[in-house]
This record gives sequence, structure tokens and C-alpha cells, in this order.
Amino acid sequence: MRKVIVIALGGNAIKQADEKGTAEEQRANVATTCEQLVSMLKYGHRLVITHGNGPQAGNLLIQQEAGVAEVPAQPMDVVGSMTQGQIGYMFQQTLQNMLWDERIPLPVVSVVNQVLVSEDDPDYQDPSKPVGPFYTKEEAEKIKVGRPEYVIKEVKPENVEKRFRRVVPSPEPIRNIEYLAIRKMVDDGIVVIASGGGGIPVVYDERKHLKGTAAVIDKDKAGEVLATVVGADIFLVLTDVAHAKINFGQPDEKDVGRIAYSEMKKLSEEGHFKAGSMGPKVLACLRFIEWGGQTAIITSLDKAIAALMGQAGTRIVPDGTA
Ligand code: ADP
Ligand code: MG
Repeated sequence: MRKVIVIALGGNAIKQADEKGTAEEQRANVATTCEQLVSMLKYGHRLVITHGNGPQAGNLLIQQEAGVAEVPAQPMDVVGSMTQGQIGYMFQQTLQNMLWDERIPLPVVSVVNQVLVSEDDPDYQDPSKPVGPFYTKEEAEKIKVGRPEYVIKEVKPENVEKRFRRVVPSPEPIRNIEYLAIRKMVDDGIVVIASGGGGIPVVYDERKHLKGTAAVIDKDKAGEVLATVVGADIFLVLTDVAHAKINFGQPDEKDVGRIAYSEMKKLSEEGHFKAGSMGPKVLACLRFIEWGGQTAIITSLDKAIAALMGQAGTRIVPDGTA
């Protein structure tokens, strides 16, 4: 059966943890990922692809500050849009080349994509997401003078020199702004890359116009908003582990396989899935089912095809269908 699948790609789809992030390294990872995507397209599935941008945005923020004597630094929302272009371009080109080689006549397009958030979100009161370079105490104080609006927190123990980092809010995604255009493209059979880095966070101003905000939206949560709005059959979260696990990191840890919504919700409430990593993935999958989705899968890139066939991964399904 042909399905509409929204795929949320983890950081390792673009950059491995031990890599610096050269263009060559990233291209090689993107190619490995695209081989899996091509296999899915060969089955006739329609794909919408989203991805993280943590390392790329982090590097770009460092470049903004390092270059400030020569050229003005760009704000975070603009940096977010730049990484959507950067990563979208790599996937768009690599995937298109592979599809041409296979004589599969599908166009691939990446979208500069905004996601609405609210400045009333509680995370604006106490920002939680560290971004950009690490600073010493002196550097942090100097930055606060020039940029009084920055919230800078101590994120490493006191014996570490560079232990301060800027933190920004990580608000809940409310709406994908370009969803109508994305839906039309999916309906027309276009392979779409969207909501990169969780989308460019935007808020409404007094005139109900959009404006960028210095924040980072979780890419899995934003991926769910995208999956729901395009009416995806499957929300597929690909990361660096084959399963979500209970008792993660303990001697008695255990893979979660096929599981009903309520049972997974219970495990989530019991705290098995860590905040900031597996937690939001599970939450996003649960939301997808709540909004009427039929299948949400968490697995690793190399198990993606097997997981789509029901032979691997953590598979969350509505109650009564597990
Ligand atoms: P991504 O870039 O794919 O979003 P993350 O690092 O954010 O990757 O999330 C994947 C990581 O979540 C795994 O590598 C693992 O270390 C961690 N993790 C936390 N809790 C769990 C759990 N209960 N089961 C499996 N992995 C977990
Ligand atoms: Mg993550």
C-alpha cells in the first residue's frame, strides 16, 4: 500500500557526533540517508522530510559572533532560515540526483518554512534551550552589556572555563504557516523537505503580521504538526537508536516494540523517555495518534525499511489495534 509518510530525521542523518561538520562529511551522511529515502520512494510512498539543525545552527551562530568586526551578525530566526536552506539544499540535490539515476521522475523541493509559536508560552519565562558558543564568565558578562536581551546561563560545572551559554525559549509549535502549499505539493507527488530545525519560529505582532522570534522549536514536535496537517498515514521518527526503551541505561532496559497508544502514554508519564531527546519523540508520536494518525514509528535510519514493514522499531498505534 502506498502511504504518505512524514519522516523526522535526527542529527546523525546529517552529522555524526564525532565529526566536525565539514561540507564533505555532511554530504556523505546525507547520501547514506537519501539511499534509504530512495528505497521508500521505490515502494511508491510519498515522502515529506523534516530534519534537525542543532549542530549547523550552532556553528553558524559561532560564525556570526566571530565575524562581527567585519560583517553584522544575523539574528537567530535568520540563522534558522539559513540552515533550512543549507540542509534542504544538500538533501534536495542528493535525492534528486539519485532519483534521476533510478529514472524515477519525482521532483524534490525544500521549503523555507515558518512555524507559529506564542510569546505566552511558559518557556519564554524561563528559557531552557542552550544555543551557540560556550563562554567564560568574563565573555558572558561582556556579551550581556552589548546584548542585554540575552539570557545567559551556567550550563557546565564551575571547574570548566567556558561554562556559560546563551539559552532561548523552546516553545510549543502551534501551526505550520506554509502548510497549504506543502499539502498541495504532496498531493501533486512532489517530495517535500519542510519544517527544518523545527521550523523558523514566528509570532504574531500587534497587526497580526508574522515576525521571527529568538527561539528553537523541537523538530520532532514540529514534525508532528506537519504530519498531522498533511494527513500522513505514518509519522516516522528516525534517530540513532532502533527502539525507544524502558529502563533506559539500566541493566534491565528493554526495547518497546508494537504498542498501543495508552500503554505508551503510561510509560511516557512514568518518565522512561528523557526530556530533550527521546521524550519529545514519544510525545510527538502520541500527539500524532491523538489527532487521528494510525501509525507512529521510532527507529534508526538503517532499520527504517524493516520498520515500515512492521519488522523493527517502536510502533505506536491507536488503542484496540495493537
Ligand atoms: P536526534 O538527533 O535523533 O533527535 P536525540 O539525541 O535527541 O537524537 O535522541 C536520541 C537519543 O535519545 C538516543 O541516542 C538515546 O541516547 C536517548 N534516549 C533517552 N531516553 C531513551 C529511551 N528511553 N530509549 C532510547 N533512547 C533514549
Ligand atoms: Mg533530538
